[in-house]
Formats: sequence, structure tokens, C-alpha cells
Amino acid sequence: TQAFLERIEKHRNLNAFITVDPERSLTRARKADERLARGENAPLLGVPVAQKDIFCADGWLTTCGSKILSNFTAPYDATVIAKFDAAGAVLLGKTNMDEFAMGSSNETSHYGPVRNPWNTDTVPGGSSGGSAAAVAAALAPAATGTDTGGSIRQPAALTNLTGLKPSYGRVSRYGMIAFASSLDQGGPMTRTVEDAALLLNVMAGFDPRDSTSLDRPVPDYTAHLDRDLKGVRIGLPKEYFGEGLNAEVAKAIEVAVAEYKRLGAELVDVSLPNSGLAVPCYYVLAPAEASSNLSRYDGVRYGYRAREYTDLIDMYERTRAEGFGPEVKRRIMIGTYALSAGYYDAYYLKAQKLRRLIAEDFRQAFEQCDVILGPTSPTTAFRIGAKTDDPVAMYLSDIYTISVNLAGLPGISIPAGFDSQGLPIGMQLIGQYFDEARLLNVAQRYQ
Ligand code: GLN
Repeated sequence: TQAFLERIEKHRNLNAFITVDPERSLTRARKADERLARGENAPLLGVPVAQKDIFCADGWLTTCGSKILSNFTAPYDATVIAKFDAAGAVLLGKTNMDEFAMGSSNETSHYGPVRNPWNTDTVPGGSSGGSAAAVAAALAPAATGTDTGGSIRQPAALTNLTGLKPSYGRVSRYGMIAFASSLDQGGPMTRTVEDAALLLNVMAGFDPRDSTSLDRPVPDYTAHLDRDLKGVRIGLPKEYFGEGLNAEVAKAIEVAVAEYKRLGAELVDVSLPNSGLAVPCYYVLAPAEASSNLSRYDGVRYGYRAREYTDLIDMYERTRAEGFGPEVKRRIMIGTYALSAGYYDAYYLKAQKLRRLIAEDFRQAFEQCDVILGPTSPTTAFRIGAKTDDPVAMYLSDIYTISVNLAGLPGISIPAGFDSQGLPIGMQLIGQYFDEARLLNVAQRYQ
């Protein structure tokens, strides 16, 4: 813990953390040492883990990347935080992120952009950009992220990490600040697949405090990592290899496909015909849910409150005008519009129907294969500022990841080489519902 805290200090320029509290972390680390000395055991005893600042941690500032929560000290632990605690892990600090997890570059954070350790003029991806930069620069051995449309997998891809978005319902959302509740899912961001499995062992499981959590047993995700791939059917969706995919990324994925063939996997062509509609579908549904979730930030209950106002309504308005950044405001505007009485059928209802079709595409593809393989992101890391004035270009960063959230499936991004600029390329594997163990196994064999 001491060594990592020193590295965090030394690499402040990356802006990977919003909060570090060395005394608090070291106190926990000493406790872990005592437990170790007594011969006690726990899965992550003494292991420092960086937590995305979207998870409430008792007594820790928890900002979610926003000014509106810039004074919010969480009064309780998220289930994920409590589980890491119980596993003996040391909370190393709270990582920077896009405001309310809305973004693909970590540039919407109220606390400033995060730099990609592979090239500090480029973004680390988002919204879990602080976690990605922290692990990639060895400021932490492992971190958590959350993924609503790609926010674990895309930053993992852009920083050469393994990032796993579990099936919807696998990891508790209790105490994880809500963006789009039907899509949000927490997961690990690590340097190896084995580490991802170790963290998922800790994070996964039923939680009666999250009504969307599923009561299914948690297998030991490390148990079958090395199983051979003979006969495993890997589906290649033709829609994931078309226009818009960077040539160097495409090439790296081809290399991976050839390697899987050599490893004995069977490659099958599949189709996800509605995948081109996933981004527009998501940008109706996610903002709709966000506009509802974010109505709680009113300056009354907790968080930032405008200093000057004339009456209650004015206080609400000024608080929200001053407390939210431009991307969050854009989402609230889109969401309230899509949910309004006059437009509900045309937008929200239609997007819900489309969501069902996208899930159905996957169901059919999985009749022919066990795992789906493709790129994680259409490009490697882009320069800071390159897409900040063009939200649609930014939204397209998640073109291969968003449909996985809409369908509720697990997806993992793993390293797949580098482009000619020396920037990391990520490959995505998508699994059937609750089939994380197989996903990790197929990922592990490529490492
Ligand atoms: N980039 C997407 C968005 O801005 C997804 C973010 C996420 O997964 N949290 O909504």
C-alpha cells in the first residue's frame, strides 16, 4: 500500500485519482498485516484496490466525477466496497471518472481529464478512465469500474488492460451511484485475466438490497481458466468488421482469430443485424433513465447547493445549473424529452422495442456459437480534446460495446497488441448470460 501510494503521488500528472487518504489506507493495510501475522486468510488480504468514485465508501468523499457531489461524504458502504473489505482488500483511493459515468474519454469529469499512461496527450477512455490509468501505470494492482455502455471495456482497451463487464444482475448495484439503472454493472479492471477472475469472485453474488441482483451461485472463476478450447465455437459477427473500424485494429483482431483457430476453437460467422441501431437506441434509453435518476440532486437532501437564490424553485434551478456539467445537462434534456407525454411512444417506447430486438439478435447468434469475438473499440486512444466538440463522434466510441449492455450480457476486453503509434488495441469477447467463467477461460487462453 505504501509503495502504491508513493507511485500515485509521483504520477499526479495522470490525474487518475480524485481522492487519496494515505493515513486511512495505511491503517487498513496495517490491520491486514496483523491478520496475516495471526495466520488468518482472506482472498485479497492486504491487496490494495482502487475504487471508482461512483461507489459509496463509508467516510470517503464520493463525487461521481461531479461538482454536485463535491462535498458528499458517503455515510455507508456500497455492497461492492463491503465485499472488498470483507475479502481483506485495502481501499487505495477513489479514481477519477466522467461525470456520472457519462463519457468515453474521462473529459467530462469536474476534476479534469485523466491522461493515458501510454501517451499522456491521449485519453485513457471512459468513463472508468481513472481506474484504467491507475492500473495501467501501476499506481494500483487492480481497480473497479462500472459499465453502462462500455465504460469498463473501452478504457481497458485503450490502456492495455483486462476489463470485465459482468452479466446484468451478477454484481450488486447497491451504493453504486445510478446512471442508467437497467444497464449499469460494476466489474474489475486488471492487468491479467486471472486477476479479473479473483476480483469477480469477490464482487459477484446475490444482494437482497439490489432488487435487480440475481440469486445464482457464484462459481470459483479461477477454476477453469486454463481449460483447452477444443470445440469451443467462437462467433464472428460480420457487423463488427465493417466500415468505421480502424485498419490496424482490424488487423490485430484477425491475428487473434488465427490464434484461436490454432488453439482448436471453431470459428463461425454470425450476424447481429440490429447492431447498427444500438447506439441510437442507447442514447434514448440511457438519458431517459439518467434524467429520472438525477432528479434527486436538488440541493436539499445532500451535495452542492447554490449560494444565492430567491425561493425554492430558484434554488433548485441554480443548484442544478451550477452543479451539473454540459454533458450531464445534455443527457437530462434528451431524457426528459424522450419521456415526455408527446414523444414517449415515438422515442422511449420504440427504443425499448429495439432493445428487445437487439437482445434477440444475440440469442440467435448464441445458437451457433459459445462466445462472440470482435474489437472493443473502433480506434485506439485519441488525443485529449479531439472529440469534445462532437458528441456524436464521441458516442461512436462505444459502437461495439453498447449492445452488450442493452442485452444484459457479460463482455470482456483483453489486450490484443499495439498500433503503429504504440497505442494498445483491445479485443472484446461476449458471452452468454451468466457465462463469465467461459468468457474468462477463452480470454485467458489468448494471454
Ligand atoms: N460512453 C457511454 C456514455 O457516455 C457509456 C458510458 C458508460 O458505460 N458509463 O454513456
